[in-house]
Amino acid sequence: MVFRIDRFELDLKDPLTSANEVIKRRRGFLVRYGLGVGEATPLPPWTESYEETARALDWLAAEQPSPGSALERFDVTPAARHALSSALVDHWARERGVALYRYLGGKRSLTSVPVNATVDAGDPSDVRAAMEQVTDAGYPAVKLKIGIGDRANDLERIDAAASVLPAELAFRLDANGAYDLSGVLAVAPHLATLGIDYIEQPTPGVDADLIEQLQSDGLGVAIDEGIRTVGLIEALRANPAAIIIKPMAFGGPDLAKAAALAARSLGIEPVISDLITGAVGRITAGHVAASLGDPAPAGLDTGRRLDEDIVVRPPLVSAGHFELPSGVGLGIEVP
Ligand SMILES: [Mg+2]
Repeated sequence: MVFRIDRFELDLKDPLTSANEVIKRRRGFLVRYGLGVGEATPLPPWTESYEETARALDWLAAEQPSPGSALERFDVTPAARHALSSALVDHWARERGVALYRYLGGKRSLTSVPVNATVDAGDPSDVRAAMEQVTDAGYPAVKLKIGIGDRANDLERIDAAASVLPAELAFRLDANGAYDLSGVLAVAPHLATLGIDYIEQPTPGVDADLIEQLQSDGLGVAIDEGIRTVGLIEALRANPAAIIIKPMAFGGPDLAKAAALAARSLGIEPVISDLITGAVGRITAGHVAASLGDPAPAGLDTGRRLDEDIVVRPPLVSAGHFELPSGVGLGIEVP
């Protein structure tokens, strides 16, 4: 069995502003192994750079190593490792004739995974209208981006959202580390009255004392970017309500699943999320979420940001659920 590598580029509908740059397109690789396919779509600082992924995968194609020695070598290149381990588990799941989420240990039959909608920080009236759309579309959860632009407007935005969201729809906030300690302590008492599911990454890094204080005051905290700075073990030790697990950043579906189980065993909710990848990466992440049996709404509604995709018919999100392709392995054929 040989490893084969293909490159792809996908245009985004609208440019995305990340910590480092404005992203207009996503560039990545597909690794094929036997019947399996896996995606590497690097995004620094979550993963190595595109050039580093390319070097790792060029080596894979040239050397054709054993799967085990390749996995070991890709320890420091999570996107390359993600493609490799995805292709391997997809191949083995197809060989065994089971869906990938079953191969990853899923006990329950699932045809879809609940997802959260994402609403960008905007004027309160825009946020209210967006929240009404999300509710009508049947999403079980919504994530409002905060901490962008004028910080003073955040409370107005949040109140506008909370005023129209039904109680059964999980309301999440994501500050992407934009607040400082005094800033978050100033808004926390009010946020704690709004029935918020959790606030993701209120401040940069992982501040265990802050997390403990916010949560004892009734405001759950989720760690996302902080995992990058302190690592998974320290992030779990801070005992947040939830932890965001991006398989592409964790180095593959196997490692993401292990991290999710470690979180669950400590009573921390794992939230599986996509790093704006192509359809193969999203479906892989969908299988990781499905393998958990009853996943929390996942961050998998990212396909709508792409203007084109790897496969002709990418998976749909309908009524707030990411539809898992039926069939063995990933459940899709990639041309
Ligand atoms: Mg986040």
